[in-house]
Amino acid sequence: MFAVGCHLSSSKGFAHMGREALSIGGDTFQFFLRNPRGGSAKEADPQDAALLREIMKEHHFPLILAHAPYTMNLCSAKEEVRAFGEEMMRDDLRRMELFPGSLYNFHPGSHSGQGAEEGIRLITESLNRILTSEMHTQVLLETMAGKGSELGGKFEELRAILDGVNFPEKLGVCLDTCHVHDAGYDLIGDLEGVLGTFDRVIGLDRLKAVHLNDSKNPCGSRKDRHEKLGEGCIGLDALKRLVLSPPLRNLPFFLETPNELSGYRKEIRMVKAWRAGLRHRQVSEIAEEGEDGVRILVDRVWPRGLRKESAEISAWWKEIAPSMGLWEWSHLPERFPEFREMYLQELQHSEKALKRREEVRTLLKKGPVTLLYGDKDEEGNHVNVLEEWILREIEIPEGDS
Ligand code: FE
Ligand code: FE
Ligand code: ZN
Repeated sequence: MFAVGCHLSSSKGFAHMGREALSIGGDTFQFFLRNPRGGSAKEADPQDAALLREIMKEHHFPLILAHAPYTMNLCSAKEEVRAFGEEMMRDDLRRMELFPGSLYNFHPGSHSGQGAEEGIRLITESLNRILTSEMHTQVLLETMAGKGSELGGKFEELRAILDGVNFPEKLGVCLDTCHVHDAGYDLIGDLEGVLGTFDRVIGLDRLKAVHLNDSKNPCGSRKDRHEKLGEGCIGLDALKRLVLSPPLRNLPFFLETPNELSGYRKEIRMVKAWRAGLRHRQVSEIAEEGEDGVRILVDRVWPRGLRKESAEISAWWKEIAPSMGLWEWSHLPERFPEFREMYLQELQHSEKALKRREEVRTLLKKGPVTLLYGDKDEEGNHVNVLEEWILREIEIPEGDS
């Protein structure tokens, strides 16, 4: 499944973040386990954590991502800073055992004049004291903009750290689009080249998450100032290509754009719509006339808009949709070719179907309807292609969860 989320405040606890993620259409989220600038952390509430686990299970969040504090610097020139960073990471990873299978992302650090090689050595040594074979969290090195003496602005530096750890399976990489662009990798003009370089130097199999951000500054600026999607120097076209890029298909995406919740909601919807378009093309390859079928459905048969509760439309969904084959279609895309025949038959030749569509249209004029948008199947796959198309085609008003 395609999981998208954004950075959320952890001030109201774990379960609150889960509900907040849901309210903006997310399937995951990123958060700080402690104050990002200071170091203190309150003890995790096991009941609150259990609630979040339930939400994650029910709503098929594949994982969540904790971000280490910015003050963590495992390659500081100061011994006490390194020791403090190690202590924080060890403690954070202990808490992350509450959410097995999740991710923990950190900035490799700034070597502050000691040189990249020494910095890499210090980071690797620290990780070898922290990572254990028993832990259930994957730790991620974030690609950085390379400002000052910051490590991680070159893929080679991350490779060197990955090479030095004792439990390489516990360590991966998180690609931050703003950082990579600021570091001088040309995401706009040569995405394939950048991913090719990543693959050659680090290996795409080590890539476990994406931070999806636009950048306030041009490629190579080494600045690290995030911008809303489409409002910065990377731009929507390049970001869309990246989201649709096959090597990144199965990764979770996290927005760290300067947004309030409503802005995140819009961006999540947009990014999901891009992916829905991809699915659209793939399915229409299976069935030559698929695209027409979808257009007819989305434009005419299907309601435009709104997902407020309404008994009427639920009845429509339960009774009329299955008889038109829509239910099967939306839930079993692998049966699409068979269904397509059925669907076209109904749509083009059956008077009954025409009459039903009229009924539906009349029904829709009466008021708000439920779109059942965002459903997932038992395994958590977002297989409801119909809904994904709808997501792409129509605007769902803000304020609905
Ligand atoms: Fe970061
Ligand atoms: Fe980031
Ligand atoms: Zn950043």
